[in-house]
Amino acid sequence: MNIQLEKYKGQSTRFTCPKCGRKHSFTRYIDTETNIYIDEKVGICNRAIKCGYHYTPKQFFENNPSYNQNSFTPSNTNKEREKELIPIKQIDKNYLLQTLSKPSNFLTFLLNNFPKNDVERVMLDYFIGGAKDNRVVFWQIDSMLRIRTGKIMQYNPTTCRRVKSESDSITQHLNNSTFKPLTWVHSELKKQNLLPNDWQLTQCLFGEHLLIKYPEKPIMLVESEKTAIIMSLYQPPFNWMATGGLNNLTENKIYPIRKQQITAFPDLKCFELWKSKAEGINLKTGSKIELSNILEGRATKEDRELGLDIADFFLRVSG
Ligand SMILES: [Zn+2]
Repeated sequence: MNIQLEKYKGQSTRFTCPKCGRKHSFTRYIDTETNIYIDEKVGICNRAIKCGYHYTPKQFFENNPSYNQNSFTPSNTNKEREKELIPIKQIDKNYLLQTLSKPSNFLTFLLNNFPKNDVERVMLDYFIGGAKDNRVVFWQIDSMLRIRTGKIMQYNPTTCRRVKSESDSITQHLNNSTFKPLTWVHSELKKQNLLPNDWQLTQCLFGEHLLIKYPEKPIMLVESEKTAIIMSLYQPPFNWMATGGLNNLTENKIYPIRKQQITAFPDLKCFELWKSKAEGINLKTGSKIELSNILEGRATKEDRELGLDIADFFLRVSG
């Protein structure tokens, strides 16, 4: 194996940059012994100043151990590696594309509270989708751009609070007794027999794919998808990712980003829980997750009881 940047042999050896989109300006890494390219996102943009994208094979293999294993290195029997080799099931991208043009209460809230250009940026970054009754779809896409599933939820368009019961719902006349506060794309597809019976969900962090789009941005980790998106509006220099739940801060979800700089912002009720989880994960994966206690220092007793998160604080200050 001899991996290097591909030598220039005419325009066909220069590609479209995955970050800035400029054609014929992206040099890919290739194994010159086999003439096989590394992944299409791995390479360097020729526009060093204006774009600056550089995703190295080393970073890629660290982030994608299974790819490394299958394609380039002899197998070993390390248990942890075997776990990585279980094939990941995905959702066809046409289902995602169908949701992108659809409205949602969540998007209405963003458009009413943030500049349109900024909202359009996060719509593209996170592939924010819409579903029936103006529900939002938060797609989980990993750093190999595999679509794992989508989480479908309802929000109030004015307060951006979750709608958790039928009586909270402003569109309750549209809903029948089957109202569900949360459902998943893969479960809906299974119900309609659009996925094979043996299809199994493996979740990833919400926003994991941003690692490919913005490899240079430090990662900020929060609990909810809504918080990740809102914080990305306030603080764009970071890759905001969400675990999708209090108990979803797990070794498997952190593994693909373990080499990155990660700061976690637990919700107010969960600092101690996340602290002990993060310490365990750091030991097992070699990650260096740091916990921010910025909220702990500012919160009132009421804030704590409400279990507010970092986006609630930003929305309060700006609202
Ligand atoms: Zn570029």
